Amino acid sequence: MASIVLCIEDNDLNMLVMKHVVKRLHDVVLREAVNAEKGLDIALNEDVDLVIMDIQLPGMNGYEALQRLKEHEKTSHIPVIALSSFAEKVDIERGLKAGFTEYVTKPIRVGHFLQIVERLLMNTGEVMIDQEQ
Ligand code: MN
Repeated sequence: MASIVLCIEDNDLNMLVMKHVVKRLHDVVLREAVNAEKGLDIALNEDVDLVIMDIQLPGMNGYEALQRLKEHEKTSHIPVIALSSFAEKVDIERGLKAGFTEYVTKPIRVGHFLQIVERLLMNTGEVMIDQEQ
């Protein structure tokens, strides 16, 4: 059964990078949301295994959306990776303290990011990086 990765990201280019990243993983389906409201709707209605959350979003931001996920029994256990251009040590500490499983700063390093995604999905099933791409 495929793992579902939900990416909540309002920037087209960053979303494209995520598509590229997820394509390299076997049996992983990417669900896309351009804002937190749509992302929460998907998380509550589908069996999402991992969330990749942009912090700066129109309307509800990534921190608020994380709190919403934590409040629901269906979604509270889902690992959430924060994606942010705020790269100061205090930003990273704040993110981890808020409950993000990982805090990744933009621009992302694809290889490094893939490793994080792969590791977090390991708990939900067998995921292997496709070495041929
Ligand atoms: Mn953004």
